[in-house]
Amino acid sequence: METRVIDGRELSNRLREDIKSRVERLKEKGITPGLAVILVGNDPASAVYVCNKEKACNKVGIYSQVIRLDENTSQETLLEYIYGLNADKTIHGILVQLPLPPQIDTNAIINAIDPAKDVDGFHPVNMGRLMIGEDCLEPCTPKGIIRLIQETGQPIAGKHAVVIGRSNIVGKPVALMLLRHNATVTICHSKTVNLKEIARQGDILVVAVGKPNLVDSSFIKPGAIVVDVGINRVDDKLVGDVNFQDACQVAGWITPVPGGVGPMTITMLLENTVLAAERKWVE
Ligand code: NDP
Repeated sequence: METRVIDGRELSNRLREDIKSRVERLKEKGITPGLAVILVGNDPASAVYVCNKEKACNKVGIYSQVIRLDENTSQETLLEYIYGLNADKTIHGILVQLPLPPQIDTNAIINAIDPAKDVDGFHPVNMGRLMIGEDCLEPCTPKGIIRLIQETGQPIAGKHAVVIGRSNIVGKPVALMLLRHNATVTICHSKTVNLKEIARQGDILVVAVGKPNLVDSSFIKPGAIVVDVGINRVDDKLVGDVNFQDACQVAGWITPVPGGVGPMTITMLLENTVLAAERKWVE
């Protein structure tokens, strides 16, 4: 069977058209969805991510406000900004770009964001709701991964999904979301014994580790859907965690890096911002 590439850019563009229409409908009601992004410090990768988010907002008509703060900003100052944005009626989504400098307790910052404006879906209230199957703002990367899997047209229900990686931002929430879609889920991590054998049982294999070429064709069940979340810079090139060429000999579907999960993450951020604004309007 020939491997089909799941094109995250094409899917993103299609979804962004829908987001644009939803923004227009909100604007007709007098509401402009607004996203505030806070960037603390001078990390070049973070600066690029923030810039991309700003551009993406502008393209679909979402108002974006970027707050750039000094590397030495105190936790108290950052909290004051968050409290201000929580109360700001023009802002429907708040995102604090991670990582934060060491003097700031990341959890304290995430916990301070109003859960209704937590468009990253990292607040314990949203995470808890995800856990118990209640409506919530879902974290962007896992949400994008589910959409990419759905794009294959294959049902998730009843499939064995293997997730490699158990971080709070990707591995754990994507495992919960796959469970919510009635997959049978196995979560693997750095202490997993027989990783390859377990991975090879997956009808769906999600790899979110951050190690180039960790997964090759010997980890993949013939015909499986493979989602490569990893972003690694090797010799000035972006690569995932999966050896793409080799995996293509076995996988049924695969996401490329770049052009797979990456564009979907920003698209889901836009969607969550619109969702938060729509919910505010209904209240
Ligand atoms: P973390 O470093 O937080 O987590 C990595 C996970 O991989 C951990 O659970 C770790 O296990 C596990 N792991 C490490 N080594 C191995 C191994 N040899 N075998 C099996 N499991 C292993 O990373 P993130 O989840 O934040 O990100 C993962 C990757 O996804 C990164 O490359 C990141 O850049 C990328 N990413 C991409 C996004 C996108 O939009 N495309 C968004 C977010 C992340 P343990 O818990 O035991 O330490």
